[in-house]
Amino acid sequence: MQFKDIEGQQVLANRLTEIIDAGRISHAQLFLGPTASGSLALAVAYAQYLCCEHRQHYPEGSPLRADSCGECPSCRKFSQLMHSDLHLVFPTTTTATVTSKPCAEDFYEEFRAFVADTNGVGTEDEWFSRLGVENKQGMIRERDADNIIRALGMKSYEGGYKVVVVWMAERMNLVTANTLLKTLEEPAEKTLLLLVAESRDRLLPTIMSRVQQVVVPNRGTGLSEERREAFAALFVSWMRLLFKLNMQPLSAWVDQAAGMGRETQKLFLQYVLEALRACFLQTAAGYSLESELQFGDAKFDTAFPARIKPANIEQMNEAVNEALYAIERNANAKITFMQLSFKMSRCLKK
Ligand SMILES: [Zn+2]
Repeated sequence: MQFKDIEGQQVLANRLTEIIDAGRISHAQLFLGPTASGSLALAVAYAQYLCCEHRQHYPEGSPLRADSCGECPSCRKFSQLMHSDLHLVFPTTTTATVTSKPCAEDFYEEFRAFVADTNGVGTEDEWFSRLGVENKQGMIRERDADNIIRALGMKSYEGGYKVVVVWMAERMNLVTANTLLKTLEEPAEKTLLLLVAESRDRLLPTIMSRVQQVVVPNRGTGLSEERREAFAALFVSWMRLLFKLNMQPLSAWVDQAAGMGRETQKLFLQYVLEALRACFLQTAAGYSLESELQFGDAKFDTAFPARIKPANIEQMNEAVNEALYAIERNANAKITFMQLSFKMSRCLKK
């Protein structure tokens, strides 16, 4: 996983590579943010950059200042998540094939395929639906903690860092979290523990106080210029259709959105959240529309933000988040975008 493959997170990626280049590597870090924002992908890209034998640095003014090479033996093993000094831990549950005491080791192959297929931004729900166990709660258990400690205590195979990435760290049960605390207090040399979590509320305060936090922002603001322009145009035409609620062109718009592919749909909905927030700030607090969130349509840029106000912003956010959740769960995209359109239209007319 390279930083260049994680759309919309160049700013954070640049900060991370700067920290590694400066040698200020904290042995325990928490990547905090929704998986859809790229938190897991960033943690893996970070570890890959750290272990890369030929780190690449780009000329000033490039979107990314540096990245792993993607070609050295270490990078090649990282790209398949097969590096012997990289250990992955993630929530598991009993399944048709693993009927008791499941742990991450039992599902390595499935997890590698899951990360590859979703480019590292697949959600926990997607992970469990892939295992065919939709209604169970996943956990990270004692056996996983034992494996983490063993992995960090072993000699590095390749002479460099040993890295453990714990995805959905909030799923650790109490025993697991407490076991992990000990390694956080007495870290071995050249070890790196990267916790990836969506919510800080479910992590033990004792863990929170021992990790360096990396807050992963929503990807909506960091999109490439090309992508942002395409999304802005799509957003403007959508909002105009919602004011008129003319069914024929609206269903053509829905067809277009539904044809974009699921990852693009998620990115677009994240963009919509950012756009609504920016409009609201402009109306409520007099902030000017951040230049990267202007819509490229002078008339719309002037008139639209005033339509987003305290009376509708929360319901609109909720509707978009519901749609995001539905898309993540493989819901029918046409129905999801049509339902979202009706809800948004009602909100806009408030
Ligand atoms: Zn490399």
